[in-house]
Amino acid sequence: MSYTVSLPNYSIGADCYKEIPYVTRFFGKKAVVIGGKTAMEKARPYLLEGVSGSQVELTGFLWYGGNSTYENGDALLETPLVQQADMIFAVGGGRACDTVKYVADKLDKPLFTFPTLASNCAAVTAISVIYNEDGSLREYYYPKLANHCFINSAVIADSPEDFLWAGIGDALSKECEAVFSSKDDRLSHTPMMGVQLSRICTTPLVEYGAKALEDIRVKRPSYELDQVTLDIIISTGIVSNMVSTPDDYYYNSTLAHCVYYGSTVTPNGHKHLHGEVVSLGVLCLLEYMNDQAELDRLMKFNASIGLPVCFDDVEISEDEFDVMADKFTKTTEWAHNPKGVTREDFLAAMSRLNAKGRAFKAAQQ
Ligand SMILES: [Zn+2]
Repeated sequence: MSYTVSLPNYSIGADCYKEIPYVTRFFGKKAVVIGGKTAMEKARPYLLEGVSGSQVELTGFLWYGGNSTYENGDALLETPLVQQADMIFAVGGGRACDTVKYVADKLDKPLFTFPTLASNCAAVTAISVIYNEDGSLREYYYPKLANHCFINSAVIADSPEDFLWAGIGDALSKECEAVFSSKDDRLSHTPMMGVQLSRICTTPLVEYGAKALEDIRVKRPSYELDQVTLDIIISTGIVSNMVSTPDDYYYNSTLAHCVYYGSTVTPNGHKHLHGEVVSLGVLCLLEYMNDQAELDRLMKFNASIGLPVCFDDVEISEDEFDVMADKFTKTTEWAHNPKGVTREDFLAAMSRLNAKGRAFKAAQQ
């Protein structure tokens, strides 16, 4: 059986938008920009500068509609500027990229992404998370990959710190989840590459995370901020593309994300960002795996940048664990667990981790 694997292409740097004319030269001249309002405001001067003096013409700047929905995507499909464009530029965060990925896929036009936040890998993945108009999750849509991703370090440095902070928390899950969920399987070439690549996702975050957060606070592009940005957008994105298929294998996320899904049904859990809760889930997974050395390393790291180390930090009490499990045992993540994972064992690991995290905090005071 034949198959095709597409890998993300990307540029990074404070002046990388200057590469636009060269990178897009085979795809046409007229580009329509679609994105978030703030994102387009911040990226616009760099985009105009990037294409100035070239054959690339930006025909318009269109708002994507505010959420990743089929309704917003379909409205864009009806827009003449979008229909007439040779290529589509997606500018913004995850929801903007996901919407425009759907639009470009439907029109089968070349797509270029310009992430303005380092919070997730949507700019390079072949999946769109689609919501209902009421804000609830609808389904996953599987578009083609963007032709190229342009990561402007100056634009990223000008984004809110919280997105980077939570992006670090989410990216911390990639290595331990991919390694754990694939551990008993014989992997074919593509997922084997993906799992190997996941092994470079944790350490750069631990090494450069604190400095990157310091830099983003003062809007200063830096080597460390670039390393963390590449980790969150590119490394995790390539892993996601390689370790999951709609119906064959799925090593993309597991127990750390189960803790997040569980938190969404608690009264206070939803007050906390996705990546914040996932980073606590990572500690629970490491406790479950009994990898104490890695647990020590990441607990120290979490504490050093204000990510949670116990459930008190996300305002969840242990008597809510059962309700959380009722929710997370119904997820795709749970369904793809390795053999032998039981609800009771994982809840016990969550409790043990909670005690360890509390003791860690007490010892620090
Ligand atoms: Zn996540």
